[in-house]
Amino acid sequence: MDLGIKGKRALVCASSKGLGLGCAQALAEAGCDLVMNARGAEALEQSAEAIRKAYGVSVETVACDITTTEGQAAVLEAAGHVDILVTNAGGPPPGMWSDWDRDDFIKALDANMLAPIALMKALLPGMIDRGWGRVVNITSQSVRAPIAVLGLSNAARTGLTGYVAGTARQVAQHGVCINNLLPGIHDTDRAIALDTGAGKAQDITRDEARTRREATIPARRYGTASEFGAACAFLCSQHAGFIVGQNLLLDGGATNLTV
Ligand code: NAP
Repeated sequence: MDLGIKGKRALVCASSKGLGLGCAQALAEAGCDLVMNARGAEALEQSAEAIRKAYGVSVETVACDITTTEGQAAVLEAAGHVDILVTNAGGPPPGMWSDWDRDDFIKALDANMLAPIALMKALLPGMIDRGWGRVVNITSQSVRAPIAVLGLSNAARTGLTGYVAGTARQVAQHGVCINNLLPGIHDTDRAIALDTGAGKAQDITRDEARTRREATIPARRYGTASEFGAACAFLCSQHAGFIVGQNLLLDGGATNLTV
């Protein structure tokens, strides 16, 4: 299917690895020119070069922490006009409700709520002026079904979800669609870290922890970054202009909900 977005300019945050990289690759395959970001310059440039070679699109890189106001300013300055924004950042650490103080919450809110909001606020006016835009926020399955040990993530990501629910409906009349993608477990470095932790806690190997987790998922496997990226590219496509303010779970059926 031609996604109809060849030549569009996409900013994909936190995209040297994992789900962000999957989104960058799928958008490049659809013909978008990219601005990619991550903190580590080396992995970022390697991923960018692989995309340039594979898809022949232009890729600019900005190595910085997207959760800081300085990082956001650097990315926005390099990006210029942006038709497609994919927001993403690392997730907060797990813990107990009693572990976290104000500073922990501020950090989580900066990463998983206020950074995406700042980027939207900066880039939506240009999209509105041009009468076309797409925003996809990478959030989490935990927005629909909170994970107890991820209280910081639950709090920050549901805040972003509430903001998007209102904002998406204020900008849709201008041809701008904002939606959220909610990953369940996917085969990335984050999954390796989670399985390593689960293995240690249960005194089993990481592979065994993964096998046990897979058994709880109706699809009986982890998602891949490339199928996640394909879903993102579809939401950014010309065909998705009537999809507004939605929260799409990509979790192999793991979250047991009727709607
Ligand atoms: P990942 O494989 O660990 O990749 C994270 C990417 O983001 C890397 O490119 C990393 O590069 C970059 N990054 C992290 N923090 C950044 C920051 N502050 N500024 C700029 N770039 C940053 O993670 P992932 O699995 O793709 O997860 C992406 C998001 O989805 C996370 O928020 C995660 O919590 C959420 N999620 C993931 C899963 C899953 O199963 N994978 C499930 C639910 C939710 P640098 O380290 O070099 O910056």
